[in-house]
Amino acid sequence: MSKYLIEYSSDVVESPILSKVVVETGVLINVLRADIEYDKASIVVDIPHDEDRVIERFKESGVRVRKLEENIKKDIENCIDCGACISLCPTGAIYFTEDWSIEVDKGECIRCGACVLACPMKAMTIQEH
Ligand code: SF4
Ligand code: SF4
Repeated sequence: MSKYLIEYSSDVVESPILSKVVVETGVLINVLRADIEYDKASIVVDIPHDEDRVIERFKESGVRVRKLEENIKKDIENCIDCGACISLCPTGAIYFTEDWSIEVDKGECIRCGACVLACPMKAMTIQEH
């Protein structure tokens, strides 16, 4: 599964770009998260196959496309392994290991920020790309 962040500027925010890309490429793109405002929007999508073709069509449509690989970072020094972030993660990306320390499966993270807000130690940070 390959996740991408698609960012819409005010010039294109009202255009049905996602629908057009799905229709034109025939690739069923899964939306994992969406932040939509009146003058901008960003969505996190999973592109199951034909990534290059889909990304090219997105770019031609005027949106910014970034592959998401390192979404979230845990500060090992600050984390006290309290587990408060685990139940808030909508994708199950955060889990306890056998020795009861916290691990993050970065491939499952959709950059929602829930763990960042929840952490009492400010140990989680969203990574910029
Ligand atoms: S930002 Fe945190 S809570 Fe949200 S998906 Fe990523 S790891 Fe889970
Ligand atoms: S909420 Fe913060 S301190 Fe607690 S386990 Fe998660 S990252 Fe570590």
